[in-house]
This record gives sequence, structure tokens and C-alpha cells, in this order.
Amino acid sequence: MGLLEGKVAIVTGASRGIGKAIAQKFASEGAKVAFTYLSSEEKAKAFEDELKAAGIEARGYKSNAGVFLEAEELIANVVKDFGALDIIVNNAGITRDNLLMRMSEEQFDEVIATNLKSVFNTTKGALRTFLKARKGSIINIGSVVGVNGNAGQSNYAASKAGIYGFTKSVAKELGSRNIRSNAIAPGFIATEMTDVLDQNVVSEWVKGIPLKRAGKADEVADLCVFLGSDKSSYITGQVINVCGGMVM
Ligand code: NAP
Repeated sequence: MGLLEGKVAIVTGASRGIGKAIAQKFASEGAKVAFTYLSSEEKAKAFEDELKAAGIEARGYKSNAGVFLEAEELIANVVKDFGALDIIVNNAGITRDNLLMRMSEEQFDEVIATNLKSVFNTTKGALRTFLKARKGSIINIGSVVGVNGNAGQSNYAASKAGIYGFTKSVAKELGSRNIRSNAIAPGFIATEMTDVLDQNVVSEWVKGIPLKRAGKADEVADLCVFLGSDKSSYITGQVINVCGGMVM
């Protein structure tokens, strides 16, 4: 029996990268998986078909995580389609890197909406369902940059730091209702988001990581499985690094 047998999970931004790995691991642990995407329509359809072919109850939804009404509609549709909701993984995220001197208001606002407001949107949307069920696990994907900061990523770092304050506040507000809220701070994980980085810069970073390699999306997904499962029933309000020791 899988660690997530019978649970219904939503993973935002799962057409590729870390989100896709989380959705795959959840499915392999027995969860029913609803996932979202924004622009990767074909990839999302292929992923939904792949999960269904493996006998998993799964569905992809096109939904902009940064738009409140779309998140509200998404949660309502998932609860209608799957009959319940146990876990949300707020994974959807973008970068719009630039030095502050050159950063536009649009670049700042877009990152805050997609990375931070999105977490409010889905959590708020799921609240009534979680309260009624007197259970729920919220898992928010942050970044080590949210604690340490990074030159050229003031918008991204601010969005991820905001996630931690939100995560801990929700843990305090809803702990008495058996609703848990945790965040994961990945370090450098090889995905399409990091493929665009200068490879010379990347190899310098890797030298500074105690485990001497980039992380894999699966390694973040493994922690999500644990936090979504009843094995983590006494863990809430935490920010857990998955970073090969990059940050201690
Ligand atoms: P990725 O490969 O770029 O994938 C991003 C995913 O988010 C895609 O599925 C994308 O969907 C979706 N997405 C983007 N904007 C969206 C929106 N407005 N609404 C719904 N979905 C949206 O990124 P990743 O590397 O897997 O990163 C996933 C998460 O981990 C992000 O929150 C990121 O900040 C965090 N993280 C990553 C690293 C790393 O090293 N990779 C490190 C620390 C933290 P479409 O394909 O449809 O656009």
C-alpha cells in the first residue's frame, strides 16, 4: 500500500520540472492527482494520458495560479471531479531575473503574482473543504534564495520569503483543525528553469555544494510525499531545505 493511498492531491505547475516529478511520485504512492499548467497544453495532455494509462485517476487543468478567481474555480472543479481534497502542493513558479537597477515593475509584479499570491489563492480556495474534513496538508515550494537572497533575483527572493511567512501563519491559524502547512526550500535542482542559466556559473555553484551536484526533481518530490502523508502528522509550520547542504 502506498503512502498516499486514496488521497486526492492538487499539484500546481506540473506540466514539467519539479511539479511533474511530484505528481508522478504522488501517483506512484496511490494518490489521485489533479494538476495544473498554464501554457504547456500538449505536455499536460500527454502527462494526463500517461497517468491514466497507468490506471491512475488523474486530470490536468489549465489554470493561472496567480489569478484568484481561476484558483477558486480550479478547487471547486477538483472537488467536484474527485469528490475530496487532501493535499495541495503550491509549486507553480517563474523567474524574471534582473538587477534591481533594470528590473521593471512588470517583472516584479509578475513574479509576486505567480509565486506568492498563487499560494494565497489556492490555500484560500481549499480552506472550506479542509475545514469541513478537519484535515489537510499544504506544501509550498519556496527556495533557499528566499532566506539567503540572491543578486539579480530580488523579486524571486521576495516572493519565496513571503511564502515562508504565509506558511507559518497558516500553520498557527489552522493547526487546531488538523490542517498542516509546510514549505520546502529547494537549492539548485536541474530543470528547464535552470537550463537557461550560464553553465559556467552553474559549475561554480556546484563546487560550493557539499554534495557536489545539482539536485533532482525526484529528490524534492520525495519530501513532498512525506509531507503529504500521515507519516508527517506532527510536522507543521516548517521550512525544510532540499539543497545538498548548500544552505545550513
Ligand atoms: P519549471 O521547469 O520552469 O516549471 C514551472 C512550472 O510552473 C510549469 O509546469 C509551468 O507551466 C508552471 N507555471 C508557470 N507559471 C504558472 C502559472 N501562472 N499558473 C500555473 N502554472 C504555472 O520550474 P521548476 O524548476 O520545476 O520549478 C518548480 C518550483 O520550484 C518553482 O516554484 C520554483 O521557484 C521552485 N524552485 C526551483 C528550483 C530549481 O533549481 N529548479 C530551485 C528552487 C525552487 P507551463 O509549462 O504550462 O508554463
